[in-house]
Amino acid sequence: MRLFLFALPALLAACHPKTAPGSVVTAETNAAGPKNPYYSRTDTATLHISEAEWKKVLPDSIYEVSREKDTERAFTGKYWNYTGIGTYYCAACGNALFRSDSKFASECGWPSFFETLRPNSVSYIEDHSYNMERVEVLCGRCGGHLGHLFDDGPPPTGKRYCMNSIVLEFEPDVASLK
Ligand code: FE
Repeated sequence: MRLFLFALPALLAACHPKTAPGSVVTAETNAAGPKNPYYSRTDTATLHISEAEWKKVLPDSIYEVSREKDTERAFTGKYWNYTGIGTYYCAACGNALFRSDSKFASECGWPSFFETLRPNSVSYIEDHSYNMERVEVLCGRCGGHLGHLFDDGPPPTGKRYCMNSIVLEFEPDVASLK
């Protein structure tokens, strides 16, 4: 019972994504906040921003995952079991990353996708941390940490992009709201 009460706020948060259905993300409401002048849904040019500048413009919760490569606890993020129809953007810079039709229920506790929206939506580097050999997935525009790539995903790619909800921002398709 105590464990359940401890987990309740996270479970409730998971049911209530910040971007409400029908809302439109603006400079004031995007996850990165109005302080972030680098956020754009249309500019795909690669960003070269100092870590000190990111620290200034990002909310702490996004900064810790995007720039310090922290990982949110499984089953606590807002999108791990979210099934809305639309597009997932980088919460730090607005870069389009994934479509909802590439998202699948992976049981791992983090939002998982079998392919990216564009080949250059993300970039990859080898990650040798924690005595593991993993492929780290970075945002193709801002270089922020998103999660890791595994080879145990479903067809057609067999890939599993295992992402942190906190660095994703979902925008519903207008047609899906009618
Ligand atoms: Fe980004």
